[in-house]
Amino acid sequence: MPRPILATVHLDALRHNLNQARVRAPDAQVWAVVKANAYGHGIERSFEGLRSADGFALLDLEEAQRIRALDWRGPVLLLEGVFEPRDLELCSRLGLWHTVHCTEQLDWLAAHKTQAPHRVFLKLNSGMNRLGFTPTAFRAAWARLNALPQVEEISLMTHFSDADGPRGIAHQLAAFEAATVDLPGERSLCNSAAILRHAHTPLRGEGVSTLAADWVREGIALYGGAPDHPEHTAAGWDLRPAMTLSTRVIGVQSVLAGDTVGYGSTFTAPSAMRVGVIACGYADGYPRHAPTGTPVLVNGVRTRVVGRVSMDMITVDLSPLGDTAGIGAEVVLWGLSPVSGAALPVDEVAAAAGTISYELLCAVAPRVPMVAA
Ligand SMILES: *Cc1c(COP(=O)(O)O)cnc(C)c1O
Repeated sequence: MPRPILATVHLDALRHNLNQARVRAPDAQVWAVVKANAYGHGIERSFEGLRSADGFALLDLEEAQRIRALDWRGPVLLLEGVFEPRDLELCSRLGLWHTVHCTEQLDWLAAHKTQAPHRVFLKLNSGMNRLGFTPTAFRAAWARLNALPQVEEISLMTHFSDADGPRGIAHQLAAFEAATVDLPGERSLCNSAAILRHAHTPLRGEGVSTLAADWVREGIALYGGAPDHPEHTAAGWDLRPAMTLSTRVIGVQSVLAGDTVGYGSTFTAPSAMRVGVIACGYADGYPRHAPTGTPVLVNGVRTRVVGRVSMDMITVDLSPLGDTAGIGAEVVLWGLSPVSGAALPVDEVAAAAGTISYELLCAVAPRVPMVAA
């Protein structure tokens, strides 16, 4: 028998979450963001759940080829554009839309020989200071692109640094409007947090009235993570977990008051208790920094990690289960318990470990078997 650990991707949850974007941004077309192998869920495995998206957005040319290999004929957008001039040949061949965020990419495009002109998303650095042209350089970049025979259509794009938090988007929105208000072209501003929190914010510009138009770029919310946890929960946003990471109890220890558990003896039993040993560790992608107290479900009952996470095993407190949980008991690290239907949001596990759901989902290790259900 293989090790009992398993990741299950819930296609109905992907469909539900995608539909939530339609409800919140009814006038927008939705890019399903599937970078990082669909946030760890697997592009091929998730495709059935996401195929009603208007397009797929990602970074990696290899992933773009995989989307085309699934016979997806619709839009595919390279969110960081091309990395070197010859990538443009693949864009031409596969009909990939690509971001242009710097002068070098403009130069490469100007020198590119193509039969079919490209659709490009011109990126404004509206304040995040990662990728994009500054507001002062943006207009000249647009004019240069607009004059290129290699370009068929230019869309306008920016990315928010604080759509999930207290600083919000107003300063970046003002910069975007100032740089683009009289330029034609479709707009794309919203990530998941902006879809959930700011979709109805008015936007001034040609052919648009709200922030959600014309294209939203939805990532984490598709996969059932709340981008603004703990201010909101996934359930509070009506999002469903798209991944369950489950395993089983493979050992049980009855420890006495004062006994310690695991490497470094970081947990001392306050009284006699049963400790379950489960088949999951940091080599499976579970965060090693998850401390004592990190939530876990055993037979659908919520309990906690005790002691340090090791490479292949985690120790959990079986006290809330009485004597009912022994070897073979079902354990959910995050997602949905098939026993009780209880949910353990990946956001809670991430928060306990000092990180965010994105990182945990993307980090599920290749040795963990993953299936769609
Ligand atoms: C990853 C990414 C997104 C999606 O972000 P979420 O917070 O996961 O919704 C949107 N836009 C760009 C440019 C990205 O890189």
